[in-house]
Amino acid sequence: MIGGGLAGLTAALSLAEAGARPLLLEADARLGGRLAGGDTVSLEHGGRSWRFTAEHGIHGLWGQYHNLRATLARHGIAADRVPALREDWVHAEGGRVLRAEAGSAVRRSLFPAPLHYLGLLLRPSFLRMLTLADLIGLPRVAGSLYLALAYDPLMEEIDFGERSVAGLFDGWPVRLRAFVSALMRSGLAARPEEVPLAGFLAFLRFYTMLRRDSWAFDYLPADSGAAVIDPLAAAITAHGGAIRAGATATCVERTPGGWRVRWGEGEAAHAAEAPQVVLALDAQAARRLLAASPDTAARAADMVWPAGLETGVVRLWFARAPRSSAESGICSGEMTIDNFFWLQRFQRDAAAWHAATGGAVVEAHIYGPPEVLAQPDAALIARAAADIQRAHPELRGQLIHQTVRRNPPSHTRFGASGGPRHLAVASPWPDISCCGDWVAYPHPALFLERACVTGVAAAARALGELGLPAPAVIPATPPEPLARGLERALRGVRRMVRKR
Ligand SMILES: Cc1cc2nc3c(=O)[nH]c(=O)nc-3n(C[C@H](O)[C@H](O)[C@H](O)COP(=O)(O)OP(=O)(O)OC[C@H]3O[C@@H](n4cnc5c(N)ncnc54)[C@H](O)[C@@H]3O)c2cc1C
Repeated sequence: MIGGGLAGLTAALSLAEAGARPLLLEADARLGGRLAGGDTVSLEHGGRSWRFTAEHGIHGLWGQYHNLRATLARHGIAADRVPALREDWVHAEGGRVLRAEAGSAVRRSLFPAPLHYLGLLLRPSFLRMLTLADLIGLPRVAGSLYLALAYDPLMEEIDFGERSVAGLFDGWPVRLRAFVSALMRSGLAARPEEVPLAGFLAFLRFYTMLRRDSWAFDYLPADSGAAVIDPLAAAITAHGGAIRAGATATCVERTPGGWRVRWGEGEAAHAAEAPQVVLALDAQAARRLLAASPDTAARAADMVWPAGLETGVVRLWFARAPRSSAESGICSGEMTIDNFFWLQRFQRDAAAWHAATGGAVVEAHIYGPPEVLAQPDAALIARAAADIQRAHPELRGQLIHQTVRRNPPSHTRFGASGGPRHLAVASPWPDISCCGDWVAYPHPALFLERACVTGVAAAARALGELGLPAPAVIPATPPEPLARGLERALRGVRRMVRKR
């Protein structure tokens, strides 16, 4: 196993549970990759010392995350997750800030999918966010979004070329465009011009378009390291697996019995041989390792590799809590932050601090553009604090502590691409299987669930080769009947148009 993010840990656990005794190598001193925990932040306030554990970024587990939920449930991990109840849409324009709660209207809509967004129009606060031009432009926006019913980029080979989402949004009314693009940035961590159209359609289908309950999600009750990664690692070792952190794989070499993996350098150089290797790296790390290995370099040079995205995460501690009851929000318009999460609403340490002091902790994510992320820490903090305080004027003058974390460019720019030039669970090299949230596999999931699904599938492939019992991937719940009917009809239209 090379790589100890969620994909690698899931694969290692599946291998260990089947009795294969995997060895997992992770480059970082800390396991978890993008789901890793972080350093502890200490704070003196109200005559007491408080400690908060940071992380790569707050994560949610969405309704269709069946494989991740099943893996956690099998080992009694993070059972006390906190369901998301309310998510705000905050829009800043011309010195004004508008806010409406939108999340619950979608997942608890009275209308069946894919008409469930009509629930938003029954909310006066949401309607107040729109202009007359938005209401007139609604059919056009709905028509473009329903493209996601006609095309399933993760399950069928469709060549969208280099098309980004920006073209889809052309001509949309301003506020609706701001809303959908904020939703997309929050989910895909990139701007419309950077997001491949195929990735956006896959995102819409998996998270919201086909079922109301796929937008229902849970928060972890503690930082992701403590809540998920540490217990997963403990389960792997309890089942006979071994883990080496701080072990950067530098080369894979074909041997008569499988592969030799080299890691470390100089005095600290090591190697181990295995009949089966699972690569569980982020896309750019996989490209580097395979390009540096003579037995894989030629084929790797001909493959396409998703770009890695940098992210910035600002945390702000306030002496009082905001008036809004939403746990999180997405942002649009003249704002730097893309989304935010009030940690006292779902994380134990922040909730304890809130109960004792009345204070609040917010985590805000900044997904670019690069020129914003290039700014010094103090500037990012100032922008994030200004955004939060514009949305919540009651928090002005209440900021008592702040941190910023810069995540390396390992986050997947999700393009839903497949084909022979894209790495899949079944790699082009014998006895190497791959997993990760960017790895091709015929399942509609994205991000954490995709990491988990491909982890299970890669382990199943390796176990099959070893003659051991293999776990099965749990399928996604099918679309609601109306969505399924419309999907069939639109695909029929597509087929007819193609024939003509
Ligand atoms: C800020 C942020 C918020 C997010 N929020 C959500 C969310 O709410 N819900 C959701 O579903 N997803 C979310 N995601 C995405 C989610 O974190 C990822 O989809 C998932 O963690 C990917 O797991 P992975 O194992 O595929 O990759 P990674 O976590 O990137 O793991 C790859 C691992 O390989 C290791 N590695 C690299 N090179 C080597 C080498 N040469 N040798 C050994 N090891 C190596 C890396 O150190 C890393 O640990 C978020 C991501 C970010 C950045």
